[in-house]
Amino acid sequence: MTKPRSQLLDILFNQGVAQKVLQLSGTDQGLADAVRFPFLALVGQEEMKLALLLSLINRQIGGLLLIGPRGTGKTTAVRGLINLMPAVKRSLCAHGCEEEAALNGGGEAICPDCAVKLEQGTPLTREEPMRLIELPLNARLEDVIGGISERIALEQNKIVLNRGVLSYADQNLLYIDEVNLLDDAIINAILDAAAQGLFTVRRGPMSATYRSRLFLIGSMNPEEGDLRPQIQDRFGLRIIVTALEDSEDRLEAYRRAVAYQQNPYKVVSEWAYNTQLTAMDIRAARALLPKVHFAEGAEQEGIRWIQDLKIESQRAEITLFEAARAYAAADERETATIDDLRVVAPMALRQRQSEFTTIYLAQQKKEDELIQGIINHTPHH
Ligand SMILES: [Zn+2]
Repeated sequence: MTKPRSQLLDILFNQGVAQKVLQLSGTDQGLADAVRFPFLALVGQEEMKLALLLSLINRQIGGLLLIGPRGTGKTTAVRGLINLMPAVKRSLCAHGCEEEAALNGGGEAICPDCAVKLEQGTPLTREEPMRLIELPLNARLEDVIGGISERIALEQNKIVLNRGVLSYADQNLLYIDEVNLLDDAIINAILDAAAQGLFTVRRGPMSATYRSRLFLIGSMNPEEGDLRPQIQDRFGLRIIVTALEDSEDRLEAYRRAVAYQQNPYKVVSEWAYNTQLTAMDIRAARALLPKVHFAEGAEQEGIRWIQDLKIESQRAEITLFEAARAYAAADERETATIDDLRVVAPMALRQRQSEFTTIYLAQQKKEDELIQGIINHTPHH
């Protein structure tokens, strides 16, 4: 792997670790819940940090699954992204009209009010930071996709649709802790909405359609149950998060956690400068991403790996290529190479092989050959 040259990757891999918390002072002010532990202050866990960073750069990666035991910093890392969130354009109109829709789909892609605004040169969108939406544990299907408001139905004898968590997730990160414990109907609804970029909720005579261009991050502890392979396949990157191996790292992580408990604002301010630089670099990487293309032969090599691994799902190459493009953008390059593919390949390709599918398909091929052998030897009349 060639050495990354961008400030973004340098901060992620080097400076964050070099910076030591030397003093433990002050008393616990009980503020640790109000401010988030800085993402860059996490010790080690480089693959997880890289995957989360790439998630902020390219939504087309198609989601991220963090797999590991409790207490390895998965949720802390995800919540730490808040201060790195890039800005996204949000519609000012209740119908969700955006300038881009008008450019791509003509005047009919936006409502009449917005068509007038567009002619007058009034913006239809405004920039806002991406947000982190956390799916509450024990969420029900109607909490997620929306449903009829029972309160209004009882009080006013009217049918009104409540918005679900999903309707707030457009252009945001949606985090589901313990995704393996979630009801199949709920996770399928979320995955469909994420894949299609919009979803419709229908309840009796009522229906509403919402945009849902979201990036899904799930975490799971494999000790508490598996995720069905069909569902796992729909997450782009898979990160195995384990305890820190190096004893020095582990001690430093402990020191930082204690320092944060005692004075979270001090820890946050110590990382504020690098956090700000990193947020700016993420913004630049997002702007560069549409220009990033592959060097000659790189995509063919990626496909060869996937075929050699006998991976059936074509989600593998989408994730592999989009993650490599995001990595090149993070490294301030317009050309993604085989080296970039190598960096992201373990995250994109692990846990995609299915022994069952391989055997099943081999048997089916044999049967099809038998059928062909017999039908091709039918005597002609
Ligand atoms: Zn509109």
